[in-house]
Amino acid sequence: MAVFMEEKIEAIYRQVMAKNPGEGEFHQAVKEVLESLGPVLVKYPEFADKKIIERICEPERQIIFRVPWQDDKGEAHINRGFRVEFNSAIGPYKGGLRFHPSVHLGIIKFLGFEQLFKNALTGMPIGGGKGGSDFDPKGKSDNEVMRFCQSFMTELYRHLGEHTDVPAGDIGVGARELGFLFGQYKRITNRYESGVLTGKGIGWGGSLVRKEATGYGAVFFVREMLKVRKDSLEGKTCVVSGSGNVAIYTMEKLHQLGARVVACSDSNGVIVHDKGIDIGLVKRLKEVERRRIADYASHHKDARYVAGGNIWDVPCQVAMPSATQNEINGKDARALLKNGCIAVGEGANMPTTPEGVKLFLEAGVAFGPGKAVNAGGVATSALEMQQNASRDSWTHEFTERKLDEIMTRIHANTCETAEEFGATGNYVVGANVASFIKVAQAMVALGLI
Ligand code: NDP
Repeated sequence: MAVFMEEKIEAIYRQVMAKNPGEGEFHQAVKEVLESLGPVLVKYPEFADKKIIERICEPERQIIFRVPWQDDKGEAHINRGFRVEFNSAIGPYKGGLRFHPSVHLGIIKFLGFEQLFKNALTGMPIGGGKGGSDFDPKGKSDNEVMRFCQSFMTELYRHLGEHTDVPAGDIGVGARELGFLFGQYKRITNRYESGVLTGKGIGWGGSLVRKEATGYGAVFFVREMLKVRKDSLEGKTCVVSGSGNVAIYTMEKLHQLGARVVACSDSNGVIVHDKGIDIGLVKRLKEVERRRIADYASHHKDARYVAGGNIWDVPCQVAMPSATQNEINGKDARALLKNGCIAVGEGANMPTTPEGVKLFLEAGVAFGPGKAVNAGGVATSALEMQQNASRDSWTHEFTERKLDEIMTRIHANTCETAEEFGATGNYVVGANVASFIKVAQAMVALGLI
């Protein structure tokens, strides 16, 4: 029976690859989930009968559109916009927008696929979607970014709605971009529909702790993984890749829990500061002044900037990849293990290659996969939607406590599910199986749609 199911899943995977050529990241994300599902189909044969896996791998809707905009010199530019509405079995599509030159359909589909499982893990009523553009906000003026965002939303708005599809930020989409996007949505629809977008500013419908949520949540998850091993973050040496939204608040919470972050990075290089990264400085450089991480070294003489360096060569006990997909390969994983790394918490989406994941699992380190570890961001987005719906705003303490409870629950759920399915300590299996069952049961209940 089990072998038959494995063969069935393998056939589905081959079909997904054939139907979605040139989308390597999407294939990778699908494979990782499907590899966990053999025992699930044995326990729930109705999922196979109702072709749930085939349906779950096919987005409900994929939108691709032209985004024309003018730069400050009056020259016209054309970018491509995407929104992949993956699955709405348990709630409206929910997931961020990514603006980065590397964006293409395969990236958005991998992110949307991950998102639907992540959202299910939060326990909140949100489906999965993702969007973005190959537009690069780096080096653009505020006015150029505004014109781009307005053009992007002029097409996207017709697909959104607080009960339909609710975007948020991701790489390259922060407070500035979300403001311009929300402004244009409001203007076109003539509705102050707060619940249509999350990550909003505090003065216009946003939630306290949303900005910090992904990073803080990731650290709460790692804290829980260490607790199972009768260990804690206190005194641990940590490395956090990236220096954007997720990285900054991961570093902040690690620091608050007594750990020492000795390195962070951006796509140009790595900062190593053995005394501990000055998080206030990183915030100022990246959030306010929009500078590069290289500028950090001019403020701290005892810090080292390594242009083009590899952050995973910096010795640490806890590694938190928080930049982008496939940033830890097999070689990096071996370097981390050799240097004594005992825990890896994925703040970014799919930052570890399959080879890297295999090495971490074989070595028995506490390995938390992105769809569980970074779920605090979208969970707090759902809390923002709750506040918008009740026209309320909660305190920082209350909201952070809720985030902590959600992350602790996700950890317990993934841990228990892994155990139930014979994979004790394997959070990859726990996260994939727990979330798949939740979405699949809803899909069965809703019929063949
Ligand atoms: P930001 O745009 O705020 O920051 C991204 C950081 O990663 C920057 O330091 C950036 O460097 C670096 N980076 C991006 N692409 C690359 C690359 N190809 N190579 C090396 N470094 C790179 O994004 P976020 O912090 O929001 O997102 C980071 C990750 O976390 C992504 O994987 C995202 O999908 C995931 N995530 C984000 C959530 C959120 O709430 N924001 C929620 C859940 C997951 P540079 O400035 O040089 O480009």
